[in-house]
Formats: sequence, structure tokens, C-alpha cells
Amino acid sequence: MSYLTHLECAYCRKTYASDQLWNLCPECHKPLLARYDLVKAASEFRKEMLAGREPTLWRYREMLPVQEERYRFSLGEGFTPLLYAARLCREVGFAGLYIKEEGVNPTTSFKARGLALAVSRAAELGATALSIPSAGNAAGALSAYAALAGLPAVVFMPRDVPEPFIAECRALGARVRLIDGLITDCGRIAAAELQKEGRFDVSTLKEPYRLEGKKTMGYEIAEQMNWKLPDVIIYPTGGGTGLVGMWKAFREMEALGWIGSKRPRMVTVQSDGCAPMVRAFEEGAEFAEPWQDAHTLADGLRVPAAVGDFLILRALHESRGTAVAVSDAEMIRAAYLIGRTQGLFVSPEGGAALAAFQKLRGQGWIKDDETVVLFNTGSGHKYAHLYLGDS
Ligand SMILES: *Cc1c(COP(=O)(O)O)cnc(C)c1O
Repeated sequence: MSYLTHLECAYCRKTYASDQLWNLCPECHKPLLARYDLVKAASEFRKEMLAGREPTLWRYREMLPVQEERYRFSLGEGFTPLLYAARLCREVGFAGLYIKEEGVNPTTSFKARGLALAVSRAAELGATALSIPSAGNAAGALSAYAALAGLPAVVFMPRDVPEPFIAECRALGARVRLIDGLITDCGRIAAAELQKEGRFDVSTLKEPYRLEGKKTMGYEIAEQMNWKLPDVIIYPTGGGTGLVGMWKAFREMEALGWIGSKRPRMVTVQSDGCAPMVRAFEEGAEFAEPWQDAHTLADGLRVPAAVGDFLILRALHESRGTAVAVSDAEMIRAAYLIGRTQGLFVSPEGGAALAAFQKLRGQGWIKDDETVVLFNTGSGHKYAHLYLGDS
């Protein structure tokens, strides 16, 4: 059972019933957030109850929106390893590095978390067809969960997305539409067809539940670190769903009495070819201006504009975190370093997290005795073409 009570606009705070399908807030066109009865949950849902539960994100089901078990569509997503990176630590002269290995999720990226929740809840609330604009990994994840739920899915991706992303969606039974342009152009074209085709849009943060899937990374880090959060979390940021989700999770867990008030400093890393959040953070802006001519080999970071921009910026400021841009060459170099020290075949986005760590460590922003969690957000397999040149 779930403690879900209602939805609340993250910007204007207007509330909405959670038993029907919503996209953005109809008033101000900002994201809606799922709210729970935290008072009741605090008295009934104890962290000791997690012992012995399934090793997937559904172990936190009371704090997830799906009401009925038959709508919990699962491929084993979540509860991924949090690995202490001993050999990498030795290599970089720092003792406190951990890697949250999201590449082992279904469809090989953490997009599985968000889409497992979005598709499950959309099915529960009566959606009959699903649509998504994606830079690559989200499309594969939607294809998988839509297949499992028996719902037709259409995915819109940039025409220049690497072939494995296209192949994966086709193999999973989705209809693939390739668009000349970036994910923002895909979003525009997908949106124009929604009504006529009767499709529900599961764009990130344009529906409330992908965030709920990704917030479980915050629950897991707390549980896996024995309810003591790290000092710093470095997150490769596109739409920012995971970063915003973890920040929400920490607040919920404090209300549940599972953790104290200490929070990690949250770090956004982006590519210097597409760094709208880094620029907005440096300018102290509330919203981010769209990035022109976005280019990066890290497909998950090729997001020139994010609907949840203000939520990412709020989490960075409230946590006393920061935002860092790294080059594609730095990402790939860092990915090789993780590979040969830790045995993990990581995505360029995972490499970006280590490259950002190296920058912040060099600036003294991260201190000797701190603990740092790096996110490897996806496996390297769909990006194999990036690792065929010289290392
Ligand atoms: C989507 C994606 C990201 C960015 O995730 P957001 O939560 O949207 O910021 C990072 N890495 C990979 C591999 C991705 O697929």
C-alpha cells in the first residue's frame, strides 16, 4: 500500500487529485510533485521493515505512487550496487570514493527507474498509449515497460542517436520516430500528436511519477550507507530528474525519522558543449536559458533546456552544492580510468562524474576526509563506438 495523498505544483503550490492522469500544472505549466501522508507514514513505516524485501526499488513501495500490486510492472529495476572504489581511490589519491552503478538496471541505464514508475502508474490510471521524446536511454526504458504493461509506445529520438538506442526500442516493440534536431525538437513534434492519437506524454517532469522512480536512488544510498548520507553526490545532469528526486527523498526520509538533517552537497556535471544548468548556477539565475547548438557525445546530457531547471538550481543552492562543466575528452579519459581500475564499462556520463570530481578535488572544494558518491548513470554498451579509438 502507498501513502500517496495528492499532487502539488512545485512552483505555484496549487494541489491536484492524484487519482487521475496529469502532465504539467494546468495553471503555471510547471512540474507536479507527488505528496504523501508523511505523518501517518512516520508512525507506521519503519526502516526495519525493509529487511528481507525484494532487491528492487519496489522495496520502498509505501513511498511510491502505485496502489495495486498488479500494476507494479517490474523488470528488477533499482537497488543497484553502491561500490566502494578502492583501486580508483588509490589511483586518484583520495580515500572516500563510491560508485553507484546504475548500468546494471534493465535496458542498462537508470532511466528504467523513472519509466517503471511512470508506466505502472499511467497503466493504473487508465492510459492506453504512451509517447516520449528522448535523447536515447529513456526511449529504451519506455519501450521495455510499455511492452511489459501491454501498452503501445511511440518514441521520438534525434536522427543522429547511436544505432544501439534505435535497435533496442525496435526490439522491444516500440514505434521509433527519428527527428532532425535535438530532444527539444522531439518534444515539440511528440506533443503536437498527443491529442489526435490519444497518447499520454511521459516526458521527464512533465508527468509526476518518473521523479518518484528516480528518487529511490536517494533511499538506496541512505540504506546502503547505513542511514548516514555521503558528503557529496556528483550527478551527470540532463533533465535533472534524479538529482531533484534524491533531494525530495532526503526530505521525505527526514520526515519519516530515517535520517537526520545532514544533507550531501549536490553537484551537477554537464558537458561544456551543453551546460545550461552550469551557466544558470554561475549567474545565480532562478531559471536556465536554453543552450544554443548543444553538442556532446554523452547523449544523456544533450538536453539544452529542462522543465525542472528551477528545481535543479534550488537543490544545488539549498545543499550548498555546485555545477561543473567538463569536456567530452575529459569524460572519455575518466571513463577509461574507471574501467581499468574498477572493472566497470561506464557510459560517458559516468566518466563525467569522475572528471567533475577531479576538477573539484583540484580546487580544494572536496576535502580529504569526505565521502563522495559518483553516479555511473548507464553502461557503456550502447556507446561502444566511443571506445574504439585510442585510449
Ligand atoms: C538521461 C541520462 C542522464 C541525465 O539524467 P537526468 O536525470 O535527466 O538529468 C545521465 N546519464 C545517462 C546515461 C542518461 O541516460
